[in-house]
Amino acid sequence: MINIPKGTKDVLPQESYKWHYIEETVRTVAKDFSVNEIRTPTFEHTELFLRGVGDTTDIVNKEMYTFEDKGGRSITLKPEGTAGVARAFIENSLYGAAQPTKMYYITPVFRYEKPQAGRLREHHQFGIEYYGAESASADVEVILLAKTIFDRLGVGKLKLNINSIGCPECRKKYNTALREYLGTKLDVMCETCRERFDKNPLRILDCKEEKCKAVTDGAPSVIDYLCDDCSAHHEHVCAQLTACGVDFVINPRIVRGLDYYTRTVFEFVSENIGAQGTVCGGGRYNGLVEQVGGKPCPAVGFGMGIERLIMVLESLELNVGKPYTPDVYIAPLCDKAREITPSIALKLRAAGIVTDYDIMDRGFKPQLKYANKINAKYLVIIGDDEIACGKATVKDMESGQQRSADIGALADHIQQLQSK
Ligand code: ATP
Ligand code: MG
Repeated sequence: MINIPKGTKDVLPQESYKWHYIEETVRTVAKDFSVNEIRTPTFEHTELFLRGVGDTTDIVNKEMYTFEDKGGRSITLKPEGTAGVARAFIENSLYGAAQPTKMYYITPVFRYEKPQAGRLREHHQFGIEYYGAESASADVEVILLAKTIFDRLGVGKLKLNINSIGCPECRKKYNTALREYLGTKLDVMCETCRERFDKNPLRILDCKEEKCKAVTDGAPSVIDYLCDDCSAHHEHVCAQLTACGVDFVINPRIVRGLDYYTRTVFEFVSENIGAQGTVCGGGRYNGLVEQVGGKPCPAVGFGMGIERLIMVLESLELNVGKPYTPDVYIAPLCDKAREITPSIALKLRAAGIVTDYDIMDRGFKPQLKYANKINAKYLVIIGDDEIACGKATVKDMESGQQRSADIGALADHIQQLQSK
């Protein structure tokens, strides 16, 4: 027996409706915000992520699914959605079109992580990418899009954390201050943080280890090191969110895992799904397009974990959609009925009636049992008697009431019943 690879999950037919529900909701919200979808390949040249995500990140250092293809090229399965979009933006000269370029994606994401609740090796993200807009309004619009999705799904309770990590100039000053503060405390921090100290000290603020958290509690706050422009940008973001009535907290610990962020960073966090509570993370990444070979172009966006979102909805017992159930189940009871059943089903389906019928050549009782099990609304019975008089028996499965209806006019009959 060959098992599923560690950290991956099947979405079974009895639960795929949850995915449809989420996907439909996010697509509708994207449409309402006038954003179109972009689809990029599941794999890219490894170089793209080395340059785009950054070689001091956990993703590039430890988590990528990289392999050599038969042509000897180094290929990597998408460890996040943004770098591929940036490549497509440059390669297809989308910067030549009227700006901004607003895009969304729904994609599988592959990371070699330690599997645990809310942490998989293949997960899925809905993401937003706004290119070409430098203003605080773009940051706010992106945050509002995420917030609208949560509101539509009924999850009002997520906490929105916001921070600004400034531009490379502010970061240089801040990193010096941070190193000064952390320098004497290295021996009580975890090994990863000791490595981060030289390469990317900002990431130490993101460490989940209690001992490191205790150390960073008293660390200087990046907001205090912002240059005038970055500080004004941050204030505009906060003011606009406040004007929209969006609750948020400024959290100096939010730094995001990827190297490409500048200025605004944010996370929506749930308290209901355990330690991996971040459902959506994003921010501004003005340096990314240039970093992967394009002309400088400001950008802002987010990634939302669909598996974690489903976990949140389920933990709060919120609506997660419902599976398809047939309006009609046709039970043919003789050979002649079996002969005509498929064409009857096609007519009903053409009229928009969800129709199923027996393909197991079973007798009446097991068919009835099955129709009950799949929650069919109406059972249409066709046996010798029905064929002889050209009328089928239509049974309302809930009330048990039975009627007789012309086989040739079944669609009309069912539609009339449904409109009652
Ligand atoms: P975390 O801090 O949880 O590791 P991250 O900063 O690595 O998250 P991002 O790269 O910003 O996450 O990805 C965006 C979203 O994708 C996350 O907020 C989360 O909802 C989801 N996500 C990230 N990694 C995983 C994973 N391994 N399994 C399931 N969902 C994930
Ligand atoms: Mg991570």
